[in-house]
Amino acid sequence: MNLTFNNRVALVTGAGRGIGKAIAELLAKNGVNVICVSKSADSCGAVAAGIIAAGGKAKSLAVDVADGAAVAKASADLLAEFGTIDILVNNAGITKDGLLFRMSEDDWNSVISTNLDSCYFWTKYLARPMTQKRWGRIVNITSVVGLMGNAGQANYCAAKAGMIGFTKAIAKEFASRNITSNAVAPGFIKTDMTSSLPAEAAEKITAVIPLKRLGEAADIANMTAYLCSEEAGYITGQVFTVDGGMVM
Ligand code: NAP
Repeated sequence: MNLTFNNRVALVTGAGRGIGKAIAELLAKNGVNVICVSKSADSCGAVAAGIIAAGGKAKSLAVDVADGAAVAKASADLLAEFGTIDILVNNAGITKDGLLFRMSEDDWNSVISTNLDSCYFWTKYLARPMTQKRWGRIVNITSVVGLMGNAGQANYCAAKAGMIGFTKAIAKEFASRNITSNAVAPGFIKTDMTSSLPAEAAEKITAVIPLKRLGEAADIANMTAYLCSEEAGYITGQVFTVDGGMVM
């Protein structure tokens, strides 16, 4: 199926690497003008430059998504430049794993703010023009552990489960304005985030994945791009697990 995008403008957080990079590149390939956000200017800059070199439209912006004031300022500048950001993909995320008794408040707070507060900030600051335009797509990249929990990741699981509740609440708030809000829950995807896992542990995980392979960033990008397209206009408030069948 060819997806329709009608020259939309998208903002993808965490677009400097991994899943966010794959999402940004796929949207750009479909004619979307993509604002690539990451923490470091180098990583989002390289992705935006790659998109432009391939004939697409992109811009890069280094913003700490956990910093509400920085997101407010970036959003105001972008809305002044583009009028509306039609598609928002909240993908930036971090992990700081540890068993609860050893988890510091800093590790709790930084994981909650980077993964969850960021969704609140970007959605709050970018959604109003979508409501006026009566069109919008919001996709939040959560995780299967937000559905099932995982020992050693209380902070990350809480943030990812929070993103699911946020996605559903926003879906109800914005439905009358023709804005959809959905979540994608990846399983185990090969990116920098998971690269430190020893080969033996990766083998054990693969053994419990019915499709018998780890996921690629492209697997998540494909689902996300669909949810951002015109064709997905009747889907909202849902969580789509993309995990090779791990969680059923
Ligand atoms: P990744 O390779 O570690 O890339 C993370 C991206 O997020 C980077 O571009 C990074 O910016 C950006 N980022 C992190 N903190 C930020 C901040 N405070 N402000 C702005 N940007 C920030 O991660 P990934 O594996 O692609 O994961 C992407 C999303 O999928 C995350 O939300 C993650 O929780 C979720 N997920 C991943 C997996 C998996 O197996 N990989 C599974 C389930 C869910 P820099 O490039 O500047 O560092």
